[in-house]
Amino acid sequence: MIDELAKEIEGARRSFLHELEHVQSPEKLAALKERYLGRKSGIIGRYLARLKGVTPAEKPVVGQEINRLKAFVEEALAGARDALCASGRPQWQDHSLPASDLPVGGFHLIAAIQRQIEELFLNMGYEIAYGPEAELEDYNFTKLNIPEFHPARDEQDTFFLEGFDDLVLRTHTSPMQVRYMLDHRPPFKIISPGKAFRKDDPDATHSPCFHQVEGLLVDRGIHFSHLRGTLEAFCRSFYGSGIVLRFRPGYFPFTEPSAEVDISCFLCGSPAGSRAQGQSGSSPAGSSAAGAASRLDPDCRVCKGSGWLEILGSGMVHPKVLANCGIDPEEYSGFAFGMGIERVAMVKYGVPDLRLLYENDLRLLGQFG
Ligand SMILES: [Zn+2]
Repeated sequence: MIDELAKEIEGARRSFLHELEHVQSPEKLAALKERYLGRKSGIIGRYLARLKGVTPAEKPVVGQEINRLKAFVEEALAGARDALCASGRPQWQDHSLPASDLPVGGFHLIAAIQRQIEELFLNMGYEIAYGPEAELEDYNFTKLNIPEFHPARDEQDTFFLEGFDDLVLRTHTSPMQVRYMLDHRPPFKIISPGKAFRKDDPDATHSPCFHQVEGLLVDRGIHFSHLRGTLEAFCRSFYGSGIVLRFRPGYFPFTEPSAEVDISCFLCGSPAGSRAQGQSGSSPAGSSAAGAASRLDPDCRVCKGSGWLEILGSGMVHPKVLANCGIDPEEYSGFAFGMGIERVAMVKYGVPDLRLLYENDLRLLGQFG
């Protein structure tokens, strides 16, 4: 009896395989499944029913054979169903499943930072002015008080355009100051973001094409405190409310006086720095360095242990620049500032090498989109 049943079961397994080979549609697959696994009249069910006639000693052996056949049939049916689905037959799509995630695009980190900066200054009442990337040499240099012998004009730094004697690829976004001042009468306040170009070999901190944001405000009675207040408001919105600014004397041909601006490290230096400022009740330049230093992390990945981060250049618009643009420096004064967007990305998001921003590696860019 037991041998006979075992032979039958093996025969059923073979004929199932034979039938399965000829199944080419989901309907036929469903019919095959019903014939073998169906509750009422399925072949495997009938074998199970025959277990009643088997002796108690044989029961476990036969039961195991039947279960093995059942598992085999189930697995083979599932494999055949997957194969049919993979062949792209629309009737096999399961419409009750959640949709797969579609890749969604996002802003490149440089564009995202530019938009953040634009939004902050728009909220302070600034206008946004975009200028051309191929700029008049006169606007890029001369009107900005960069005389002909100035090293910035050197061919090492500037891309000249063949066939256009008076055009260069702008080396900074500052010529937009000139364009705006020639066309508008004060008071005004603008920022001008965009690309700039210099003949630099690409390395961790240089690129022949880079991005800047320029700011300019001109009105009656503008002085250095207005510049300081504006940059403090911007930096605290952008880097964190606890950061402290430090102004160091600097030199730019188009501003006088000029200042390089550092912020206290937002990772390791800012909490102590802001406390120091809060205690003194004022914000004297540089006085918070000791406060910031008290908590410095010598291994800080952002400030490398110095506690300060160089972020922008600024100053009061040089009277000669105002006069070059038809604005009376006796009546009006203004301030200007500029920052590199790549530098902001590196400082704020810890991007260690500027070239990473141009490699279009989605593993990096996807972190910010
Ligand atoms: Zn730090």
